[in-house]
Amino acid sequence: MELQANDKTVIASIIPKIRTFVAMSIAKNLEEIRRKIGNDKVTLVAVSKTYDAEKIQEAYAAGQREFGENKAREMQLKHAALPADIRWHMIGHIQTNKVKYIAPFVHLIHSLDSERLADEINKQAAKSARIINCLAQMYIAQEETKFGLDNAEWQALRENYLAGKWPNIRIIGLMGMASNTEDRGVVSKEFAMLGEMFRKESADSRWEGQFSTLSMGMSGDFPLAIQEGSNMVRVGSAIFGQRSYD
Ligand SMILES: *Cc1c(COP(=O)(O)O)cnc(C)c1O
Repeated sequence: MELQANDKTVIASIIPKIRTFVAMSIAKNLEEIRRKIGNDKVTLVAVSKTYDAEKIQEAYAAGQREFGENKAREMQLKHAALPADIRWHMIGHIQTNKVKYIAPFVHLIHSLDSERLADEINKQAAKSARIINCLAQMYIAQEETKFGLDNAEWQALRENYLAGKWPNIRIIGLMGMASNTEDRGVVSKEFAMLGEMFRKESADSRWEGQFSTLSMGMSGDFPLAIQEGSNMVRVGSAIFGQRSYD
């Protein structure tokens, strides 16, 4: 069916209303989440993966500056298109050959999950004359599909880092993802485990106070994560709405 001139006028008049509605709901969602977080010691990272630049602009207009992406190329394109004072967080597993796309500007890499990746981030950071902040991603879920370090891998990586192996990265804390389950008990237990590990680690004087960030909690579980000591939450769908593709 072809649109008539009149239909087009009607559609043209509706689009700005839809835009305003979306903008209002993103601002409202952000306000609601900040209220639920309830204190200013927790950093809210708005996970904008798969959402377009326009939605990110709406969140930006509402004062949000920290945004999270899980694909290097998508982050690179959005960084180029959006305001320069946005702090970009890499929250997904990155292949070593993609680090170069984000090394010049990325604010924090949450997903340091191997020594090979540390080698590459260090190399690309040096090329950009930067020191890139990273979190060690710990494997805490019961699921085989999740990335992350186990305890032995973390200890090996930590000792190499503290011995000065990667001068162009700075490890400032830990990140973890709980199991994707409705069972709050399981999720709480996994967060508690990581919270405890973070507290012990950050008390180690060899870190000289830099071990300060615990990134855990998403749309469905961030209040539980905060209860267990998280001070950085990664929230996507609760801000931007249901993702239509992943
Ligand atoms: C997608 C994603 C999030 C956000 O998930 P929501 O359920 O949309 O809040 C958080 N952390 C990681 C690592 C993600 O990939």
